[in-house]
Amino acid sequence: MKSFLPLNIRIDNRKILFVGGGKIALHKIKTVLQYTSNISIIAPEIQDELHETGFTEIYKEYEKSDLEGFFLVYACTNNIEVNRRIKNDAAAYGIMVNVVDNRELSDFISPAVIKKDEMTIAVSSNGENVKKSVEWRNKIKAMLQHGDFFTKSSEPNKSGYVSIIGAGPGDPELLTIKAQRVLREADVILYDDLVSSEIVDRFDAEKIYTGKRKESHHFEQEAINEELVCQALQGKKVARLKGGDPFIFGRGGEEIEALRQHGIRYEIIPGITAAHGASAYTEIPLTMRKISSSVAFCTGHPVNKIQVPDADTLVYYMVASTVHEVLEAVAEKGRDENTMVAIVQNATCYNQKIITGTLGELRKSEHAVSSPALLVLGKNINQFIKDNWYSKKKKVLIAGEDSGLYVSEEYTRVLFSCKSVECTERHNHPQEIPLDLDFIDEIYFSSLASLRNFSLLYKSIPEKITVKTASRKVNDEYKKLFQILTISL
Ligand code: SAH
Repeated sequence: MKSFLPLNIRIDNRKILFVGGGKIALHKIKTVLQYTSNISIIAPEIQDELHETGFTEIYKEYEKSDLEGFFLVYACTNNIEVNRRIKNDAAAYGIMVNVVDNRELSDFISPAVIKKDEMTIAVSSNGENVKKSVEWRNKIKAMLQHGDFFTKSSEPNKSGYVSIIGAGPGDPELLTIKAQRVLREADVILYDDLVSSEIVDRFDAEKIYTGKRKESHHFEQEAINEELVCQALQGKKVARLKGGDPFIFGRGGEEIEALRQHGIRYEIIPGITAAHGASAYTEIPLTMRKISSSVAFCTGHPVNKIQVPDADTLVYYMVASTVHEVLEAVAEKGRDENTMVAIVQNATCYNQKIITGTLGELRKSEHAVSSPALLVLGKNINQFIKDNWYSKKKKVLIAGEDSGLYVSEEYTRVLFSCKSVECTERHNHPQEIPLDLDFIDEIYFSSLASLRNFSLLYKSIPEKITVKTASRKVNDEYKKLFQILTISL
């Protein structure tokens, strides 16, 4: 039987080669990267997530001479024959090889590691039970994270509870009643980029922003999983709030896997997914008798994974930077050039914007599309789209308390909460994205405080906006701050 001796090997100034540019390589690289970035990758295609890390990337099929000059080699292709060749070639050069998931062919295996400062904990099963090594590593990591590693038993605290909640596509009123109740009861809320700040501001729990952390991009989802586990192991009621629905391009599956590994109890509360929000707020029925009897939800990212299923209506998520590629893929599949397409940005939000055209037209034109955006394609996109019910509503920005003046048949309220200006720092939200006043028709100031807060973020108000208030004091101050005289009392 093969035995593996645990060692720490010096790797500074030594080059490490990965053959293979897919998921298997990514997984291994994450571990190695904690110790060295002197890494080269050879593969005909290299996965998007690997591009950003600044390794040496060599786009080609593997051949023996590629091994020259390397200290260690990881054979990470999904072709066992190629992996076997790498193993044999490396033996000829006297280079040690790890053939991923194959202890028989490997000269060395990688333990599951935890690295913190100068300390490393490495868990190994002699290559026989990788799953168990990972489980042990994760348990140790969770114990380390809440500081009771040397004092308490390894049984996780069972009283923590996680609710994975879909927050809907943007309009805060699309949050479910159940989600609202759970958020009200939560000790801590972990929320994503796409969750409207109007929803987050409404609840008193401790808030942790888990949007994109640029400097550790690769470990982003892993870091979120760890934070969830860590919060729950402290016995808290944790609300994990995600845009749309957690199980549609939401990585909710990965989060429950982490919770399961730690024996943490959880529930999942669905949310309105962006496709449903966009469909309702632009009047595109996703199915329609005699016209569309099937609908598929697809992703436009990454570009090499764009699929075109055989459904009547296609909805593509994550298209902001790939509209062109999505349209090309659809056309290539033989869809009629006259099929209607709608690109919906910020669906269900005050700044919802729709770009429409036929497949043929949009393929030829350039469109600046900003995130979040999705693309709908099918014969069900009807003549109402440009004149949809949501576009007819006036968008009123309510700064401060709602006066009850604005009936919802006519208006969409956009709340400008004074709270969001004050709290930005406290709960670590990145600089609040200012509202796009171009989409606003009217502003209502309820108090002096609301006006002053507003003026901290906006130095002028476009002339087309009607400004209203119920207070004379606001009127005087408003004139001073914005030097405009038009305000209705
Ligand atoms: N779980 C989410 C999807 C997350 S993936 C859901 O169920 O909706 C992120 C993608 O969702 C974005 O790139 C975009 O394609 C889509 N999306 C989310 N909110 C959106 C919105 N308000 N308008 C348009 N697209 C949206």
